[in-house]
Amino acid sequence: MKIVDLQFEESVSTYIKPLHIANEIAAEATNIRVSLLTDSGITGKGEASPSFRVNGESVPALMALRAQILEEVKGMSVLSYMLIFDVMDRFSSSSSSLKLAIQYAVVDAFCQHTGIKPYQFFGGRKEYVETDKTVSIGSLEETIADVEAIVSEGFNVVKMKVGEDLQRDIERVVSVSDRFRNISLIVDANTGYTAKEAVFFADALYRERCPVVLLEQPVPVHDLDGLKLVRQKAQLPVGADECVRTRYDAFRLVKNDCVDFINVKLMKSGLSDALAIIEIARSANISLMIGCMCESGYGISQSVHFAAGTGAFVYHDLDSHMLLRNTGPVGFDQRGAKLFVTGPGS
Ligand code: MN
Repeated sequence: MKIVDLQFEESVSTYIKPLHIANEIAAEATNIRVSLLTDSGITGKGEASPSFRVNGESVPALMALRAQILEEVKGMSVLSYMLIFDVMDRFSSSSSSLKLAIQYAVVDAFCQHTGIKPYQFFGGRKEYVETDKTVSIGSLEETIADVEAIVSEGFNVVKMKVGEDLQRDIERVVSVSDRFRNISLIVDANTGYTAKEAVFFADALYRERCPVVLLEQPVPVHDLDGLKLVRQKAQLPVGADECVRTRYDAFRLVKNDCVDFINVKLMKSGLSDALAIIEIARSANISLMIGCMCESGYGISQSVHFAAGTGAFVYHDLDSHMLLRNTGPVGFDQRGAKLFVTGPGS
């Protein structure tokens, strides 16, 4: 089960509707499919969904790393997967989504070899998870129409993007809350507010009794004092996303009492740091959600298996395959909001 070659392939997907988050609109996504070939004939597969905004990654730079990564891992045994994880941890700061793709491809090969499924490798705690679905920043009318459609598709948790215009954000969230009484809302500011704005925002939603279960990444990435202030002042649970990529980031936030929640994304952390963050959070009694970048149906299956197997997450934001064109579930089944690791009869 020794690694003999690596192949990288770019894959471009377009969004059904451009994804508008605070200060950025995305119309398409480029992912990298990784194939890891072994001397036993088994090929493990992984997908990287690079992010310039969060990870500082660019697709050409990641593609160019193939030869260097191959040089480091060639000849290593998939069965001693932690040794390969350790090698890939050195790529944490420059190319974390690629680190994930390689680490997942190793797990995929390991599972094919041993006849288990990835969610069993990760612990086998659950066989399905329930996901939310995301609403872009948009006009009030657009927002209501989007939420209407999401609710009619059977989703119980809706994630609303905010962070560009404080007053309009309050209006949008309050209107959605008034109209749709039986959903839970995650509001994600994607670093768009100052700490004071975030406290004002949270106060307004709390006063209006909005069913907000989590205020995600209200302040800029490096403003940990601001994040802590929002957590102390806001009457809503406060979570970190962009400011937690490695286990060291998670440890710093937990140690400084900055958050109630951490949003784990495999593309920020790889498998190795995501596993470490789960244990840090459990030890500190901090809650976790799992999110995604712009993964295809296969890329999302990585997080579905990870989330189901570890059973570590309160909320699951694994919806990118639903927002992109021509990329349905691969390696899992979807029924409404539920994502199952195994199909019927398997
Ligand atoms: Mn987020």
